[in-house]
Amino acid sequence: MKIKEGLFKISLGIDIGGTNIKIGLVKNNKIIKKGIFKTEKDLDNQRFGNYLIEIIKGFIKDYKIDKIGIGIAGYVFYEKGILKFSPNLPKLKNFSLKEVIEKHFLVETFVLNDADAMAIGEYFYHNKKYKNLITITLGTGVGSGIIVNNKLLYNSEFGHTILIPFGALCSCGKKGCVESYLGSYGMLRIAREFYKRGIKNLTPKKIYEMAKNNEERALKTIEKYSFYLAIALSNLINIFNPEIVILNGGISNMGNLLLKFIRPMLKENTFYLPKIKISNLKIDAGIIGAVNFNLFKDK
Ligand SMILES: [Zn+2]
Repeated sequence: MKIKEGLFKISLGIDIGGTNIKIGLVKNNKIIKKGIFKTEKDLDNQRFGNYLIEIIKGFIKDYKIDKIGIGIAGYVFYEKGILKFSPNLPKLKNFSLKEVIEKHFLVETFVLNDADAMAIGEYFYHNKKYKNLITITLGTGVGSGIIVNNKLLYNSEFGHTILIPFGALCSCGKKGCVESYLGSYGMLRIAREFYKRGIKNLTPKKIYEMAKNNEERALKTIEKYSFYLAIALSNLINIFNPEIVILNGGISNMGNLLLKFIRPMLKENTFYLPKIKISNLKIDAGIIGAVNFNLFKDK
């Protein structure tokens, strides 16, 4: 029996964020081996490149890789695989990541923005069913991946559009960005309005745990957070008219509680209400999306 070439190939997907580097071997869009490493934020281009090469070498060992896909937080010139800059990785500037990795491993490599990779991951996970798909990552920061008519809108930064004029200071230096309300620090800022005391070491995860036990302040925090989330998503939905919006990132683990609050508001504020889902892929979305980038970009 002849085995179809391509079906059993193994690719390497990498998701480089401000805190962690997630890495996975992908076969038939399934992750067969996964690893997580710390992002060394103080390294410059060259040293960061070497650090990443060492991680990859140790991780792939004897596996033969057919391609490498890398999603990285920041603005990426995807044709050349160059990271122009990254607010999360400020030491990296005009970093030729594709070239560095290709030269060392002699394997075709692609580089794209991490949130864009997530959108592609979801697109393939849903078997290309949604031509218009948006992913929003609610983590430390807020990332957006926008697919319109089967094409990616590269480097979209919905997280840095203004939600509240002259509002809270954002990590990017501007005031009132979506991220400064919907990132994890944003949620903690909202929590401070309700927790006058005992706020120390509070995290979105702890807030969620308390909300599950019907703790009033936690529920109020999530309700107010959801109010901002619904406004932000309504704007996005009314612009792009997507078929589906998929939420990812740590805060999206609040799942149905979040959806319960935002759905009625979205219904009221959008012309057409798309499906709103919590990602099933979770952190794997970026890894799977990155290795599929070559199948997607020339569409
Ligand atoms: Zn911002």
